[in-house]
Amino acid sequence: MTLSKNPSGSPAAAPKVSFVSLGCPKALVDSERIITRLRAEGYELSRQHQGSDLVIVNTCGFLDSAKAESLAAIGGALKENGKVIVTGCMGAEPESISSAYPDVLAITGPQQYESVVDAVHRALPPQHNPFLDLVPPEGIKLTPRHYAYLKISEGCNNRCTFCIIPKLRGDLVSRPAADVLREAEKLVAAGVKELLVISQDTSAYGLDLKYAASPWRGQEVRAKFIDLSRALGELGVWVRLHYVYPSPHVDEVIPLMAERKVLPYLDIPFQHAAPDVLKRMKRPAAQEKTLERIARWRELCPDLTLRSTFIVGFPGESEADFELLLQWLDEAALDRVGCFKYEPVRGAAANDSAPQVADEIKEERWHRFMQAQQKISTRRLKRKVGTRQQVIIDEVGPTVSKGRSMADAPEIDGAVYVASRRPLRVGEIATVKIERADEYDLHGSAVGF
Ligand code: SF4
Repeated sequence: MTLSKNPSGSPAAAPKVSFVSLGCPKALVDSERIITRLRAEGYELSRQHQGSDLVIVNTCGFLDSAKAESLAAIGGALKENGKVIVTGCMGAEPESISSAYPDVLAITGPQQYESVVDAVHRALPPQHNPFLDLVPPEGIKLTPRHYAYLKISEGCNNRCTFCIIPKLRGDLVSRPAADVLREAEKLVAAGVKELLVISQDTSAYGLDLKYAASPWRGQEVRAKFIDLSRALGELGVWVRLHYVYPSPHVDEVIPLMAERKVLPYLDIPFQHAAPDVLKRMKRPAAQEKTLERIARWRELCPDLTLRSTFIVGFPGESEADFELLLQWLDEAALDRVGCFKYEPVRGAAANDSAPQVADEIKEERWHRFMQAQQKISTRRLKRKVGTRQQVIIDEVGPTVSKGRSMADAPEIDGAVYVASRRPLRVGEIATVKIERADEYDLHGSAVGF
């Protein structure tokens, strides 16, 4: 336990903070930054609200269901502890929190690390002892030690009509390439084997900086998606690209994937296929060209894994629009797909763009979509039986360990269950012969280490 000395000279228990982190990986990175700062100042982290001196709730405000979960977490923390500071996306609408819970100590918005820390200082002053309060140079990570999220920018310049992220988080603000690369280097030095690159729109990285270059390892690296990907590829670990908006220069990164500089995995939210719906979503509309592009990507990099997300029941989506989406899905043959029923998030421009689709139709379309995609995903997985895959081990079991291939991102994709004659280690990358596939996962045996 971290101890520091009080003014009388006797050791005093470090102030204890309990932390709730809700929402997407981007929010998780915010949480990690806040925690790193607090740990550096001598605060101790606790897993329980009871017995802590204070609770911080990092909220998600993307969908109404996420807001409800955030409010419930705040209510729970107030009940169990009483001293609560709220931050994150919901903090952008403080009245929605203070009207429900007038007793919260402070409310700060997304990425306002300084304000959260100031609020903690006011409620629970730090007892800093620089000799005892050591924090590892790579910061405190909430993810397991062998993989880490790497946030390259905040905010977004797009204006998708179903999304309130730009309102909550503002326009795109990118980190200089050298900053990102130095953080990545520290993580790798600390044992991270897989970097998960995240942002709201990864392909737009650096646009706000006019792609300005910064010095790293004796070279100038431009703040550009392709240049950053290439430089990250030099670190000798898995690099996985998330949230890549389907803009034209995505094509440039595919050769890097074919060369294995970055993982042949593209998380690219297409959202829909019907031109009318895409237009009302304010997303890139030429979906036929997208099919051509996907075919070209696969020619260049045959084992490319494509993950995407879609929205069904968007205002004005007709049965014909939806059928076009199913047909497109069949041709695109994506590997991994998430599907959401449209939720009219307060403040989203799409809400009034066309009549709402009835809930039971949304539900029915969601089931049809999932059934159609299930068959495609299962078919794509089966093609891997008999192949050899590199698998990073996440959890070790007595005879079978659980890991992920290059095609599987943590938390959102499937797993590979690996039988092995010798015990595997977490974070180790093993060569696995795939023997069987079920609906979501693969099963095989380790044949090389
Ligand atoms: S790309 Fe669209 S959906 Fe994604 S954060 Fe930006 S506005 Fe929202």
